[in-house]
Amino acid sequence: MKVRFALLLLAVFCARPACAASINGHSYAPLADWAVAKGFRIAARHSDEITLTNRTARLVFEKDSHTAQINGVNVALSFPVAADKGQFSIAQLDLAKTVEPLVLPPPFSGKKIFTIVLDPGHGGKDTGNRVGGKYFGYSEKTYTLALAKELRDQLKAAGFNVQLTRTNDTFVELPARPDLANRKHADLFVSLHFNATESGKAEVSGPETYCITPVGAASSNAQGEGANAGATTANLSEKKSLLLAYQVQRALVKNLGVADRSVRRARFAVLRDAEMPAILVESGYMTHPVEGKKIFDASYRKQIASAIVKGVLNYQKLTAPPGELPAGSTNKVSSTRKTK
Ligand SMILES: [Zn+2]
Repeated sequence: MKVRFALLLLAVFCARPACAASINGHSYAPLADWAVAKGFRIAARHSDEITLTNRTARLVFEKDSHTAQINGVNVALSFPVAADKGQFSIAQLDLAKTVEPLVLPPPFSGKKIFTIVLDPGHGGKDTGNRVGGKYFGYSEKTYTLALAKELRDQLKAAGFNVQLTRTNDTFVELPARPDLANRKHADLFVSLHFNATESGKAEVSGPETYCITPVGAASSNAQGEGANAGATTANLSEKKSLLLAYQVQRALVKNLGVADRSVRRARFAVLRDAEMPAILVESGYMTHPVEGKKIFDASYRKQIASAIVKGVLNYQKLTAPPGELPAGSTNKVSSTRKTK
């Protein structure tokens, strides 16, 4: 009788959502159980990799990896995937904060997007990354501003209202950047940067798109705070920020045909105080011999901007309030009317 009762308890405990286990102090769930509960099937299973599919999504998880592949796009996980004798487990926090928001139908019907604040990284005394000589080299601040202006023009053409945190080579304090977006009641905040690496310059290339780190997890960036950092204002819209980061990263990788350095997490000063979905895009590596040269070229920046616009439009499609036309198309009509 006692055993039957214990089994019953175990069955009840394991039924929702999956039988949890603790790994390194974090709560993990078996991926196979999660897949059944959420309507996925196991399409392939090897000792170090498992692939789950449903009608619209394909997920690949690799043993010990901090990255999941979600519909062909790399997305950083907060904790590594665990596998033991072909049984894969994933942190509950990663299911709730990263996987489910991207593969289950979004429960939120977002606000129509009208105002987008673009933040050209660095400026003035803060040059950002530098490549080449001190006086004749390339400064990140120059190209983030050039990209922001190009992106502003393309987003305006798509019908959005766009504001920049700086329009010339001036220094703007980090907290002032999301603060401007908050004061303008912006619907989205996009900070623009270009990356650099000290080692492996010829090997490291491709975009990385950051959104706020979930509470209880460490950030993906090297200087990021550990798992004990508390909640920020940006955590209130973390699921939308993740979806925006995902759509922008996806559009960059698909349209530019570049290496996918994944959607990542950070509590950057420009992200954590944002009251709206906010992302930081590192559109490529200035230090890469090929990608670097392209970044310094206006025609490639046009392609980057065009990809980011596509990402924003896809995000808008997924979050538009029910029954509403995407804001971009609606706005375009009204702004065309205005000019006539
Ligand atoms: Zn930067």
